[in-house]
Amino acid sequence: MIEVERLGEVTRIKMGREYEGRVLYWTAAYLVDGLLIDTGCPHTADELTGFLEGRHLDLAVNTHHHEDHVGANHLLQQRFKVRVMASREAALLIGQPLQLHPYQELVWGQPVPTKVDILAHRVETRNHHFEVMATPGHCPDHVSLVEMARGWCFTGDLFISREPKAMRPEEDVHEIARSMGKLLELPAARLTLFTGLGNVVKDGRAALEGCIDYIRALSRKAKELEAEGFSIGEMVNRLFGRESILAGLTGGHISSENVVRALLRPEA
Ligand SMILES: [Zn+2]
Repeated sequence: MIEVERLGEVTRIKMGREYEGRVLYWTAAYLVDGLLIDTGCPHTADELTGFLEGRHLDLAVNTHHHEDHVGANHLLQQRFKVRVMASREAALLIGQPLQLHPYQELVWGQPVPTKVDILAHRVETRNHHFEVMATPGHCPDHVSLVEMARGWCFTGDLFISREPKAMRPEEDVHEIARSMGKLLELPAARLTLFTGLGNVVKDGRAALEGCIDYIRALSRKAKELEAEGFSIGEMVNRLFGRESILAGLTGGHISSENVVRALLRPEA
């Protein structure tokens, strides 16, 4: 299923696999001035390319290599001969089959490996300049695209919510906070976040500041609990009340326990 909404110059395309009449998990791509930011998941690749048929599309960029951000790369290249770009680290991963958990195959699907070009520091469209900012943390190859004059900030999965409570095991929560700090240092007067889940956050600065404060406070508490001898499971209960429902749904791949483990890792 796809849901399209025009938000001024930016078109938001929310996509998700329908299962018994419900979408399991939304993911989003954005189309602005001929630039497509992320390409959704493999299960919705046909619908996305169908929507893009006949529209102005010059270039696609993947914010990172995850299956719900690169899923239509192959079809876009095949049908429209569109150029797809990603960071150097992401391009390597996008070029090979991903190791997915069964729930990932069910919800998003296995992307066809594609050859994509390497992003430079800037992406130019007819009317806009987008700065490519390395924003690792969610994964090492993650970038965000920022249109400084408009204050648009396409953050992929860097910002999921102001108070993230569950993560994948490879996520580095301290690195996420540092990457958000980098975005806050940008000279743009205001930032609007366009997230990989399809949320558009008007006061992006406050959201990023709030998330950084939350991570710092959580990190302090986790280290205190560790010093007091609490187990990881007990720390999950103390910090979040209980383990995230996502842990059960994803076989433990996305969990609060992963957040606690990431909080306790030494900061680089
Ligand atoms: Zn991701």
